[in-house]
Amino acid sequence: MSSTSKLLLVLILVSHSIYSSAQKKVAIIGGGMAGVSSAYYISQFDSTAKIILFEKEAKLGGNAQTVLVKNKAGELVNVDAGPQYFVEGPWDDYILFLEKTLGKNPYKSETLDASLLIQREKEQKPVLVSPLGMKLRGEKLVKLLKLKRFNKEAYDMYKHPEAWKGINIETWVNGLKFDESYKNEIIYPFLAASLGTTVLEIKTTSAVNIVKLFAFRKPKASNKFKVMTDGMGTLIQQVGEKISSNQVTIKCSSPVVKVMQSKDKWLVTYLNNGSEETELVDFVLFATHADQAAKIMRLEPNLNEIKEILKHLTYFEARIALHTDSNFVNNQKPAFLNIITNNSNQLVSSTMNLSMISERLDGIYKSWASQKAIEQLKNSGKLLHVTSFWHPLITTDFIAQLAILHQQVNQFPSIYLSGGWSEGLETQNSAVISGQHALEKYKVFIANGK
Ligand SMILES: Cc1cc2nc3c(=O)[nH]c(=O)nc-3n(C[C@H](O)[C@H](O)[C@H](O)COP(=O)(O)OP(=O)(O)OC[C@H]3O[C@@H](n4cnc5c(N)ncnc54)[C@H](O)[C@@H]3O)c2cc1C
Repeated sequence: MSSTSKLLLVLILVSHSIYSSAQKKVAIIGGGMAGVSSAYYISQFDSTAKIILFEKEAKLGGNAQTVLVKNKAGELVNVDAGPQYFVEGPWDDYILFLEKTLGKNPYKSETLDASLLIQREKEQKPVLVSPLGMKLRGEKLVKLLKLKRFNKEAYDMYKHPEAWKGINIETWVNGLKFDESYKNEIIYPFLAASLGTTVLEIKTTSAVNIVKLFAFRKPKASNKFKVMTDGMGTLIQQVGEKISSNQVTIKCSSPVVKVMQSKDKWLVTYLNNGSEETELVDFVLFATHADQAAKIMRLEPNLNEIKEILKHLTYFEARIALHTDSNFVNNQKPAFLNIITNNSNQLVSSTMNLSMISERLDGIYKSWASQKAIEQLKNSGKLLHVTSFWHPLITTDFIAQLAILHQQVNQFPSIYLSGGWSEGLETQNSAVISGQHALEKYKVFIANGK
């Protein structure tokens, strides 16, 4: 070998070893919107990073589950069993993320006139029918005007959230100048049904976050709620295909079972066809729900304090059924959201009449349903699909715990806990924002040369 070739070889080896020591391995646990967006943002920032995304299920999406079912005409159509709607303005990070990853005009969407009906079980007449478009359709105009006033109050809170920090729904609603019957019959059932939880639970949740969740604001482009024609779940899978590369490896059907600290790295153990395999990585991102993250950390004593905080974050079960039974909706006065209450104003069911969004969804209903209702649907042959989701209950205590959690996690330069919930608001948009925050943490990690 000539001396020039030897020098070249030495230079290549030296540059390779510098490159290798600088190159970081990142494990992302969870393939919902938070995990997928984190993978994208980190890969864009650091083209040398090697990213492995682990998802326990067979496909990406997490809560965003798009299901193929038959409509009245017998055609197969996409329906989102989990997250479904978005609004331009409050969901702009989500929209921009899809544009960045999937290209121009990345999706087809459909628009709906959000319209609300609240009815007592076994009674013919609804308590309230909200306007559809500009037409007033309310049984009782006074109640309808009050609903508009309520919307204005919620919008005011949306604009001035700092004044309402730490206040729960019950305290906020108590302060509103409405009579008790209106609060109990209309406001509480409406807020609870929209989230898929109970009246009792909604009262303790953070008022500011609930108001943000419903996007009580004047959106930039339009006032309309929208749904994705192909489904929010389908879009996450498309993003996954786009970002898969030599740099980003996506491992589905690969649940992570533990993460242990190993000097200044992390040993990630996951299952591959039932056998345990490991990856030694520099940076770990937990993009699962908090309770799942706590399970994965359970054997690592250095993370005990984080686990303690995670235990305080509570979840509730939302059973969502797609079905063809129209008994839950009032077809005489069609509305998008049909809320049925009992005589004590507690929720009995909350059903979305999907044909109000789009004709292609005609004959398909989406209900937040009790186990009993699901059994009935099953027995009548009208059940299309059912999923149990675990949704964080964003109480004021939850928000307070999050602040402590972020402080604790900051003591570890090479881990981050992302996810819609970790922003104190659980939407596809907050999951994307969480992906951006994961990148911020990663940047600090790199800047400190850790
Ligand atoms: C019924 C329902 C309706 C909703 N409606 C809307 C809506 O209309 N609009 C909206 O914007 N948002 C809505 N949301 C909220 C939205 O679904 C969430 O904000 C969003 O899905 C959060 O994304 P994420 O990535 O944080 O979590 P997830 O989507 O929960 O993803 C977490 C992922 O981690 C994976 N995982 C867990 N444990 C492990 C492990 N050990 N190893 C590997 N992977 C693991 C899970 O399988 C999952 O894929 C709704 C939620 C529900 C439940």
